[in-house]
Amino acid sequence: MSSVSPTKRIAIFGSTGSIGTQALEVIAANPDKFSVEVLTCNGNDEVLIRQALQFNPNIVVVGDETKYKIVKEALASTTIKVFAGEKALEEVAAMDVYDIMLAAIVGYAGLKPTLTAINAGKVIALANKETLVVAGDIIMQTAIEKRVPIIPVDSEHSAIFQCLVGEMRNPIEKIILTASGGPFLGRKTNYLVNVKREHALQHPNWNMGAKISIDSATLMNKGLEMIEAKWLFNLRPDQIQVLIHPQSIIHSMVQFEDGSIKAQMGLPDMKLPIQYALAFPKRIKNSFPRCDFRKFNNLTFDEPDLRTFRNLVLAVEALNKGGNLACIMNAANEIAVYAFLRNKIGFLEMTDVVEKTMEKVSFLPKPSLEQYYESDGEARSFAADMIKL
Ligand code: NAD
Ligand code: MG
Repeated sequence: MSSVSPTKRIAIFGSTGSIGTQALEVIAANPDKFSVEVLTCNGNDEVLIRQALQFNPNIVVVGDETKYKIVKEALASTTIKVFAGEKALEEVAAMDVYDIMLAAIVGYAGLKPTLTAINAGKVIALANKETLVVAGDIIMQTAIEKRVPIIPVDSEHSAIFQCLVGEMRNPIEKIILTASGGPFLGRKTNYLVNVKREHALQHPNWNMGAKISIDSATLMNKGLEMIEAKWLFNLRPDQIQVLIHPQSIIHSMVQFEDGSIKAQMGLPDMKLPIQYALAFPKRIKNSFPRCDFRKFNNLTFDEPDLRTFRNLVLAVEALNKGGNLACIMNAANEIAVYAFLRNKIGFLEMTDVVEKTMEKVSFLPKPSLEQYYESDGEARSFAADMIKL
């Protein structure tokens, strides 16, 4: 017997980015399972218009209000509603026109729409890790209160989530978060001091947006992911181990109390965790290339180099101390990455900016949401002043 399940109505917040466009490929391949109801972007009107004409959503939102007219005119012959501005992102997140939000905006900007969606009872497929880094306690608490599932899209967290299926009564001893090591694996500070934007943007295994590519090169990405894992899986800091695994075949592992370790594996392709999150609890047949272990017969593992990649040390400090420290770290990092991408500061200076900002902005052990917003603002202006942005 075949049962027909209803189509899931998807809202992609950040549809023009790396995750957003790959999600649309997954949806296009499964029109019987998913429909696109909301598409949003910041300023990339051209891509947004093309996506809207192809997928015919109910609503599009362009964050940058100066692009409203262009988008509105381009979609004039359709029934697609067009909104613009930061507030509109939140308003649409609360609307009763979709079932699942794919949170794929990059950075702090994703926090408010995601929190609004949780409050509106929407299922969240979470790519935007910064949301949990900034205000993980409030996000998870609200999700519990609203009975909203948060399904990770980040490949490591999707791996852990997949390892935990069927294990809900079995406590986790620890998780092993794998890291490719990024484009500068094995390099030392004397090399990194001269690294430029173009070089840092070249990731060996993944093709991603600019911000996460730089975060992968500095290992801040892995630091953010440790904090993301703490909140998603309710872990103590000492239960989270980072392991360098340059081939990116094992996407992460869970060790249980009997010492048994489960891993989730596959070729590095974000479409798989995106598809898994959208289709959960089902798996969908696809034609993505398969991992052939006869070709990957040399999986290697190593300790991260904490002397060179000090961002990881800073992230562990934020993980251990809690409060608003991860929020401060994230804000300073967003400013530092922005400055590095514009050739305003060097590669290693990014870590200095983050470290000094973490020292200077006042620590709050149990911030309210409002205080998280304030800490973010304070950290941004401190970091920007330091760089003279
Ligand atoms: P990206 O830069 O390619 O895309 C970002 C999207 O967010 C774009 O649609 C952009 O228009 C939108 N956006 C940016 N700033 C905005 C703002 N101020 N207001 C509203 N919208 C805004 O980024 P990405 O690589 O797709 O990453 C998205 C998120 O997913 C990040 O949090 C990243 O850490 C996470 N993630 C990405 C990957 C990957 O492979 N790309 C893997 C794991 C996790
Ligand atoms: Mg990841």
